[in-house]
Formats: sequence, C-alpha cells, structure tokens
Amino acid sequence: MFSMMEAARLEALHLAEDPASGLKAVIAIHNTRFGPALGGCRYLAYADEQSAIADAIRLAQGMSYKAALAGIDHGGGKAVIIRPAHLPSRAALFEAFGRFIETLNGRYITAIDSGTSSADMDCIAQYTNHATSTTQEGDPSPHTALGVFAGIRATAQARLGSDDLEGLRVAVQGLGNVGFALAEALHAAGAELLVSDLDAGRVQLAVEQLGAHPIASDALLTTPCDILAPCGLGGVLNAQTVAHLRCAAVAGAANNQLASPEVADQLESRGILYAPDYVLNAGGLIYVALRHRGEELPAITAHLVQISRRLTEIYAHAQAEKRSPARVADYLAERLLYGT
Ligand code: NAD
Repeated sequence: MFSMMEAARLEALHLAEDPASGLKAVIAIHNTRFGPALGGCRYLAYADEQSAIADAIRLAQGMSYKAALAGIDHGGGKAVIIRPAHLPSRAALFEAFGRFIETLNGRYITAIDSGTSSADMDCIAQYTNHATSTTQEGDPSPHTALGVFAGIRATAQARLGSDDLEGLRVAVQGLGNVGFALAEALHAAGAELLVSDLDAGRVQLAVEQLGAHPIASDALLTTPCDILAPCGLGGVLNAQTVAHLRCAAVAGAANNQLASPEVADQLESRGILYAPDYVLNAGGLIYVALRHRGEELPAITAHLVQISRRLTEIYAHAQAEKRSPARVADYLAERLLYGT
C-alpha cells in the first residue's frame, strides 16, 4: 500500500469501517498545496479491498491535476465506498460516511460520482459541512457539458482553423447526463450529430429532439467525423481503437479516456488532436467548488471560460514542442503541484 502511495505522491490515505451500517470506505487525499482536497465519492462493488484502495488513489491523483489546471483553490481527493452484498439502509450508510468525513476536519470535501446521488450527499451533509452537490447545491453535469462544449470550440479552432461548429460532424459516444446536454449545445451551434449509447432510449431521444444520426455502439469510433467526443466510460482510446479512428480530433467528457499514457503519443503521430480529458471536463469540479463556497451562477460561468483558455494554451505548447497535449497538460499540472 505504501509503495502505491509513494508512486502516486499521495499525502494521506484514510480507511473507515462501521459494522452497524456496513460502511467500508477509503478516502485518498492526494495533494493539499492549493487547498482542501475535493473529489467525488464512488459507491461501487469491488473485486477486493485492494482494488478499491488503488481506485481511490489513482482517481485522487487525477483530481489534483484537474483542480490545479482549473485554477481552483483545492487539491485532489477521492472517496470510495465499497458496495456491500447486503445493505440494511442506504441512508444509514451515507450518514456513517458523513461522520467519517467530519473526523478529517475539512481536509477532504466530497461530491457525487459513479453510484452516488444528490440524495446521498444530503445524508452525508447531516453530519458534516464538507459535502457538495447536495440537492440544494445541484447537479454539476450541465456545467461539465458547458465546459466540454467550449473546449470543443477551442479544439476546432486549433485543429480546423475555426471555432464555428456549423456543419461540423461531431460523434458523441454516450448520451448520459453530460453527453446529452453536450449534444444539445452542439445541435444549437449547427453541428451535425452522430450518436451512440448502450441505452436505445437515449439515442431515440437525440434522433427526435436533435435530428441526430444513430450509429451502432461498436461502429461509432470508426465512423468518419471531424470531432469524436467520448462521453461514456473511460479507457476507450487504446492502441487498437486509435489505429482505426477516422477523426481530426478527440474531445469529450469521459474521465481517463487514454488506456495508457503512450496512447497520447499514438494519437499525436496519427495527426489527431487530443483534448486532455481532465482539462476539458473540469466544469463539474469548478461548479461544485464555487457553488459550495456560495458563488452564484455568473461567477461560475465566468470561471468556466478558463477551460477553453487553458486548452488553447496547452495546444500552443504542444504544437511548439511537437508533443501530445496530454503530455503537456501533465507537465503543467506537475509544475504547479510540485514546482518541478
Ligand atoms: P452517465 O452515466 O449519466 O452517462 C453515461 C452514458 O454513456 C450512459 O447513457 C451509458 O449508457 C453510455 N455509455 C457507456 N458506455 C458506452 C459505450 N461503449 N457506447 C455508447 N454509450 C455508452 O454519466 P455522465 O455523468 O454523463 O458522465 C459521462 C462521463 O463523463 C463519465 O466518464 C464521467 O466520469 C465523466 N465526467 C462526468 C462529470 C459530471 O459532471 N457528470 C464530470 C467530469 C467527468
């Protein structure tokens, strides 16, 4: 466990068990140089406890990079609650988790993530002030979509010479909370939409409401388009899939799109511009951070503009140094976090 912490440069790892509620939780605090660690709480079944800890550490590190480049006064953290085989009361589980967070005296602030909802955050918030994205604070997804949309325009400018999306073919993989809102914004900007989702109902909605062209899920990545926007699960870009992409750029919301760091170099050598996922999808983090400290929408929207600015700066570095934007983003984040 310590070697994993050392490799990720993790500051602290906290574990809690509460037999009464069935809580088994991990909180990984990666870096607090710029402020308290902020990051979502996953509620998932894991093959074993080691994988839950590894997941929390890896995700907390990603949150530090995301927060540093988003320019918010927070570090990166992540929590994982291991979904028990039998759960007597979901509310009691999240209340126990709230008590656990409170013991950390504000060093970690939680938010919704895979498997958790605003209702869960409300349970946590009964025991600690360090919970965001409660029912009152609202869902970050529309703000993530706004940031991704602005980032797609910056990407079109950098790769195609104009940020006008009128007539551009954009392939959106995954029409969930973020993907559908993004598709709506793209449609409003005049883009031609090619869409897929494992849920046929979501696709049907996009066809009816946005005039989107449905594409089979296993064919979307190889469909010719200008911009591919992965908005489903992570890991979609690997040596095999990248070899068959037929797009000028990849810019989407999904976390951890690259199966390994080397895939970024493969995209670069194929002439496909890659928008680093954690830069592009920082809108949700910006929203929860600013909303939690009481900022109103205009201030949040103004901060979202930094996403496309930062991306444009990264593209300029990448072009000058003939490196992948993903490598440049990691370098810039590490320079901010560690001063190296
Ligand atoms: P979601 O669960 O609401 O939607 C995901 C959608 O993708 C679902 O409709 C699912 O059916 C679909 N999908 C999954 N695999 C697919 C595949 N292979 N082909 C086609 N469709 C597929 O999730 P979300 O909140 O919209 O988040 C989407 C992605 O963005 C996730 O990777 C998430 O981690 C990331 N993200 C979300 C936020 C946020 O604010 N919600 C913030 C940052 C990053």
